[in-house]
Amino acid sequence: MKKKEGLGCLCGKVAKPTKLKFKRYVLDGWKCDNCGEEYLDPLQAERILVANKLKHQKFHAKLGRIKSNLIVRIPKVMEQALGLKQGEKVTLKIKGKSIEITP
Ligand SMILES: [Zn+2]
Repeated sequence: MKKKEGLGCLCGKVAKPTKLKFKRYVLDGWKCDNCGEEYLDPLQAERILVANKLKHQKFHAKLGRIKSNLIVRIPKVMEQALGLKQGEKVTLKIKGKSIEITP
C-alpha cells in the first residue's frame, strides 16, 4: 500500500496522508481537510484488531529440536498479528516458569 499519496475521499476531495489514533495506537492513515473524514490503513488496523483478539487466547505448541536447541513454532495467526518475519531477532526472557518472547 502506498502511504505517501492522497486517497480519494467520499466527498470528492483528496484525503492527505497522516497519523491517526486507533485504540491506543497511532497508525498511518489519511484525513480529508474538506469534510474531516479519516481513513485508517486497513492492514494496520486489521493487525491491531487481530492482536487484541489474540490477547485472550491461548495457543499450544510442541517443543521440537534442531541440533542442540529446542525450538518452538509460532502459530501463523500470531506471526501475522505481530508482523513477525523469518530471520527477525527476538529476545527471550525467563519470567518465573514462563518464557517471554519479545520481537
Ligand atoms: Zn472529504
